[in-house]
Amino acid sequence: MPTSLVLERKGELSLRDIALDQTLTPTDVRIAVRTVGVCGSDVHYYTHGKIGPFVVTEPMVLGHEASGVVIEVGAQVTHLKVGDRVCMEPGIPDPTSRASKLGIYNVDPAVRFWATPPIHGCLTPEVVHPAAFTYLLPDNVSFAEGAMVEPFAIGMQAALRARIQPGDIGMVVGAGPIGMMTALAALAGGCAKVYVADLAQPKLDIIGAYPGIETINIRNTPADEAIAKATGGWGADVVFECSGAAPAILGLPKLARPGGGIVLVGMPVDPVPFDIVGLQAKELRVDTVFRYANVYDRAVSLIAAGKVDLTPLISLTMPFADSIAAFDRAAEGRETDVKIQIEMPAA
Ligand SMILES: [Zn+2]
Repeated sequence: MPTSLVLERKGELSLRDIALDQTLTPTDVRIAVRTVGVCGSDVHYYTHGKIGPFVVTEPMVLGHEASGVVIEVGAQVTHLKVGDRVCMEPGIPDPTSRASKLGIYNVDPAVRFWATPPIHGCLTPEVVHPAAFTYLLPDNVSFAEGAMVEPFAIGMQAALRARIQPGDIGMVVGAGPIGMMTALAALAGGCAKVYVADLAQPKLDIIGAYPGIETINIRNTPADEAIAKATGGWGADVVFECSGAAPAILGLPKLARPGGGIVLVGMPVDPVPFDIVGLQAKELRVDTVFRYANVYDRAVSLIAAGKVDLTPLISLTMPFADSIAAFDRAAEGRETDVKIQIEMPAA
């Protein structure tokens, strides 16, 4: 049995052998995992033992942001071969479900998502995964970048939902990892400029280093004042809420231009008030994002084309043997850390 990073219960991780079903069906590939990103959700399961209705009740392998090398292919797999470098989409829907048939497989109630109880994640030497949700990495995309495709895919989904038009002014509220990914996806999607607002200056310094991104420290200037000043009082064409913070959500209508769009990406822990009349007075569109569907190949293409560089967001890389320390570091929530990655030993 392989050694995996196991969340035994809230607050307790161990590196140990655990029995996993790794049966290869004709439509699966077996992958030697190489790089895994530590996600806020993994850390939250570690520190809180649950996210919303998903509760850790038995030991679970963590990790869902992964890249690796194909080491075995099922008999019906045609687009991948042994030795291919790949990244994996961690949510596996029921392909025959009503949601899948509509192309919105991310909201298929039957979706099985890595490291969401009771489904095991990928911080283990090998995984078996549907070939249809496994994507070839071009030679110029590293394993580290391949493992960044998962969080970037959320930004991609947000940019698609925003229906960006070339030259739009974007605004992102919240400079956590997902806010940063969303800002970069909005730029790649056609925004002329994206303003990112947060109160943590170290985070703003990291995302503000990208051309096309301007930052707003809301400790100094309220977000609505700053975006009004930047747009001659008009507002942003598309606003992405990535903080999940109640006051930020209440203030959203003030950030958008009349007829603009708001995309809700951040997830408040509890229900929060929403300024409906503020939205109506500008006829704002409101869209929501839950994970992503049909964006992995586009995300890989943007990275391979050099249009999106996610490597500055990889703050620290640690070996698998130190993965508990990597999680403890991530749980500290340092403002200078964006993404911490874990590297599996090369087979
Ligand atoms: Zn993630």
